[in-house]
Amino acid sequence: MSPSDRPTVRLRREIVALPAYKQGKPADASAFKLSSNENPFDPLPGVIAAVAAETAYNRYPDASALALRERLAAKYRVDVDRVHVGSGSVALLAQLILAAAGPGDEVLYSWRSFEAYPSLVTVAGATSVRVPNRADHGHDLPEMAAAISDQTRVVIICSPNNPTSTIVTTDEFDAFMAVVPTDLLVILDEAYIEFVTEADAVSGPSLLARYPNLVVLRTFSKAYGLAGLRVGYALGPVEILNAARSTAIPLSVTAQAAVAAIASLDAEKELLERVRVIAARRDAAWQALTGQGWNIPQPQGNFLWLPTGAETATVAEALGEAGLVVRPFVPEGIRISIGEEQAVATLLLISADLVDALPAGHPARKIG
Ligand SMILES: *Cc1c(COP(=O)(O)O)cnc(C)c1O
Repeated sequence: MSPSDRPTVRLRREIVALPAYKQGKPADASAFKLSSNENPFDPLPGVIAAVAAETAYNRYPDASALALRERLAAKYRVDVDRVHVGSGSVALLAQLILAAAGPGDEVLYSWRSFEAYPSLVTVAGATSVRVPNRADHGHDLPEMAAAISDQTRVVIICSPNNPTSTIVTTDEFDAFMAVVPTDLLVILDEAYIEFVTEADAVSGPSLLARYPNLVVLRTFSKAYGLAGLRVGYALGPVEILNAARSTAIPLSVTAQAAVAAIASLDAEKELLERVRVIAARRDAAWQALTGQGWNIPQPQGNFLWLPTGAETATVAEALGEAGLVVRPFVPEGIRISIGEEQAVATLLLISADLVDALPAGHPARKIG
């Protein structure tokens, strides 16, 4: 370290060591941005109008976003205090981890999963414990249960899992919960739940009455297309949500985000119709890729996972040259969001050559 590199103030070593947040690459005008699992549809006019009408910029927002919470409480038929709203469900994840885990404590999750988990755990001062995904890219819940120790304070389950697009089934989840101590917080991250078409997939809200240690996270960022406004919500026991409220940075959910969320719930039918379009586009893409010889997990989020392994950088580069900005996780695989119809068509145009170029016996290639 040269003298000029030496930090002038003492920062937490584990924080300085964190990789800087890596956002999905911005796409130039001619390329499709398929790197952040965003919704390709423009916002609905009613949502834009609701935001435009919320003009009291000189006033702080309602700290608890009561109107939105009441709306969500009615939707899920729970008490309003069992709903907590945050500036994106990532903010809620951070709050819950801070509320439950500190130095010496462990937070357990499957890996590979959502990139935000490791740094949120480190920021809380806690330690990540990662259980590798199964060979079929899903969570290995029995192995996760076996990894619970006296130090475990939080378990995060992501279904559909980002980036592998796999689900946890209701049976798998129930079997897991049956062996988890009831004083251990389980967070079920359902950021992509609206895109799920598999009937066996777990869905958190109906399980809340059964599991007093469960918190379900959902977001308006993906299916509802409000990623830019930052609003998500948690459903769960009051005591746990109150602890999360205590670790929250106050007043983070703007009035504009709250009214956009309410307007989106008003327009839910229309928005979920769009979700069905994306899910159908995804299923057709998966079918076509499988037909070309790709061996990829059946997707249940608004994205596909290509387990390209050592070939990840090469394949991502080829996709980039074709005008598709995707999210490579070197050396594991590539996550591709289901965006515009034309983007999927472009993918399918080059993906046959890409799979043929993979070495024989590569795990992303179907056998035979
Ligand atoms: C996108 C995403 C979220 C939520 O993001 P917000 O925009 O903060 O609501 C949460 N979990 C996973 C796994 C995600 O992919």
